[in-house]
Amino acid sequence: MVRKMSNNKKEIIEMAQYCLNCKIKPCSNKGCPLNNDIPTVIQKIKEEKYEEAYLELTKTTVLPAICGRICPHQKQCMGSCVRGIKGKPVSIGELEAYLGDLAIEKDYKIAKNEIQDLKGRKIAIVGGGPAGLTAAAFLAKREAEVTIYEKYNYLGGILVHGIPEFRLSKDIVKKSIDKILELGIKVEYNKEIGKNLDLQELDKNYDIIILAFGANISSKMGIEGESLEGVYGGNELLETKQHPNYNGKTVIVNGGGNVAMDTARTVKKLGAERVIVTYRRAREQMPAEEKEIEDAMQEGIEFLFQTNIVKIIGDEKNKVSKVELIKTELVQKEGESRLSPVNIEGSSYEMKANYVIMALGSHTSKVVEELGLQLDNRGKIKVDEYGRTSNNKIFAIGDLAGNRGTVAWAARSGRDVAGNIK
Ligand code: SF4
Repeated sequence: MVRKMSNNKKEIIEMAQYCLNCKIKPCSNKGCPLNNDIPTVIQKIKEEKYEEAYLELTKTTVLPAICGRICPHQKQCMGSCVRGIKGKPVSIGELEAYLGDLAIEKDYKIAKNEIQDLKGRKIAIVGGGPAGLTAAAFLAKREAEVTIYEKYNYLGGILVHGIPEFRLSKDIVKKSIDKILELGIKVEYNKEIGKNLDLQELDKNYDIIILAFGANISSKMGIEGESLEGVYGGNELLETKQHPNYNGKTVIVNGGGNVAMDTARTVKKLGAERVIVTYRRAREQMPAEEKEIEDAMQEGIEFLFQTNIVKIIGDEKNKVSKVELIKTELVQKEGESRLSPVNIEGSSYEMKANYVIMALGSHTSKVVEELGLQLDNRGKIKVDEYGRTSNNKIFAIGDLAGNRGTVAWAARSGRDVAGNIK
């Protein structure tokens, strides 16, 4: 189900009027990863000053039409909204998406900074996903000469190939990116680090290099049977769209985040008879947005909470035929902030399955090991508080540098690093 956004001005003004314009701005300071000045933006909407509202918003974000649709608002801005204490929170996401859409329709421009202190500085950004695009925009606002190097023949990264059309329209993504490029950013398409793009070469031609090519390789569990035919990574399926034939099949999707939800819903739409999400914690602990879980349930996806995969079992042709599952209990372990799942001995059972899709998180590709930069213990690029790597001239942002994996947090890391460049 595509999320319906209101484009009715009367409804939008009513939504804005519901905001109390709180002085302490918890929606912004506590809830929003980008600290968008939500009350000020909403005040401008109340006054029907839409272009001013958009300009206010673009002081902190260049992805409003996207974040307004896909951010987990209930866990972020709307989860901190004062109106939510006794009733429904203000529909902040919808208001943000409305402004983003209006800016596309009316051709409002993202404003450049008054002080253009990076004029003449040449900056290369490797990767055109939300982190790279945001860094590019905030540098271009200061008149830096920015070039994005992108491995595909399109920009957007996970916004295009990680989030299915039913959750985020490609048209909105493209138009949002076009608006960012209007700031004067150049793009070199089909350029991939480690293949036809060389860090040393960039080093010769640019003052600063920002790495933003993500960490999109699905993590594995390290259990028996993971190399059988029919075991896939959720990220890879969403990115390449090279799906097997799911018709009449049972598919297990293992994980509890938005990638798990997006994969499960995609597989169901592609004809799978049964799609079962296994998650080792309880529903309340699922990182996926509540709305996505509800949509998945409505679409007939089954959930097995507090259930872990122990083993994947193959047939005589080495194809997946069953999984061994086990029930878990949640225990509070010393030093851990959230409840940990522990397998309940004697509770395992087998279930028929044709495919198993791992959607447990992701890690970086092997190419990062060949960049000559220090990595952390998770294999991500090690950065200091300014986002600078072990090479003074190179910065890293987004999940490549271990930042939190949502689009808004990726954008935040891009904006922060842009702000740190002098
Ligand atoms: Fe408006 Fe809610 Fe933010 Fe208060 S917390 S300013 S009511 S959006």
